[in-house]
Amino acid sequence: MSLTDAQKAEIEAARAARAETRRPTVAGLEEILFQPSQVLDHGFIRVIDYMGDDNAIVQAARVSYGRGTRRVSEDAGLIRYLIRHRHSTPFEMCEIKFHVKLPIFVARQWIRHRTANVNEYSARYSILDREFYIPAPAQLAAQSAVNRQGRGAVLEGADAARVLNMLRTDAMQTYDHYAEMLNEDADGNPRDPDRPGLARELARMNLTLNTYTQWYWKTDLHNLFHFLSLRADAHAQYEIRVYADAMIAATRAWVPIACQAFEDYRMGAVSLSAQMLTVVKRVLAGEAVEQPGSGLSKREWTELMAALGK
Ligand SMILES: Cc1cc2nc3c(=O)[nH]c(=O)nc-3n(C[C@H](O)[C@H](O)[C@H](O)COP(=O)(O)OP(=O)(O)OC[C@H]3O[C@@H](n4cnc5c(N)ncnc54)[C@H](O)[C@@H]3O)c2cc1C
Repeated sequence: MSLTDAQKAEIEAARAARAETRRPTVAGLEEILFQPSQVLDHGFIRVIDYMGDDNAIVQAARVSYGRGTRRVSEDAGLIRYLIRHRHSTPFEMCEIKFHVKLPIFVARQWIRHRTANVNEYSARYSILDREFYIPAPAQLAAQSAVNRQGRGAVLEGADAARVLNMLRTDAMQTYDHYAEMLNEDADGNPRDPDRPGLARELARMNLTLNTYTQWYWKTDLHNLFHFLSLRADAHAQYEIRVYADAMIAATRAWVPIACQAFEDYRMGAVSLSAQMLTVVKRVLAGEAVEQPGSGLSKREWTELMAALGK
């Protein structure tokens, strides 16, 4: 993660400022507010703003006039009940806004989540940074033989070096061409005064998908949990999962009770079909159940056994 001195100074100034408010604030989140947390090689995620806390969920659920809270254990019990029973609207009363720097191919997956408000860095208006995501060696995996959307063994030695070299040189070459087509220096003056520069909105089209972009991304807690349940899941691509993991850490600081309930009842839970539940009941009754005759397909059976740790 490389921030310029001016960007670091802006973050420090924002962190040093104080605003008086009647609204409840969360000490744990205030502690990390505005601070970037590094993700991948040049990316980051930072919380820019938030509204609400664990109590806001309780208040909304009780439609109370004041704080509307009771004993901590009662409030936690209510929040856990709401999550368990998918009574989701009280969680929509809490909002959070992130500033994210991420590779374009990750942004394409992320933007599919339509229930957020997004404003992306404009590459029509500004020039993109010369920064590309190059996977760490441990992430440089071959195509999985069993899962078309997954990774297999890690590439090693000459194979890994060749791929890394291609990723680097292709990205750098397209960026060099981008800079040449723009024909602008850092101050916006022509590098070569004898030729026109191509419009920024056109010059960008040749860049590789591992080029970094940035956006502000705002959502409510209900939709954040939905995003995290899909993108922090083991089936999500590593490069988006690491962002989701960093967001879970921020969410823990923000709404610790709700986040714990989410981790217990959503992230740590499995959903069983009626047939799967029947198999579990038969096994608990002492029956030796095998996949043939279980009513489950081979894939469902494998998933159930994996969920049961068998
Ligand atoms: C592991 C994984 C693999 C994927 N693979 C592919 C793939 O191969 N190809 C592909 O195209 N996508 C793929 N996706 C993207 C996926 O299909 C969803 O588009 C993405 O996860 C966003 O989910 P969402 O629509 O639930 O989220 P959001 O857009 O945030 O929506 C949240 C919820 O709001 C409701 N909602 C929002 N908008 C509408 C609407 N217009 N109509 C009805 N209900 C709405 C739905 O209940 C939805 O679940 C993949 C996602 C994951 C996690």
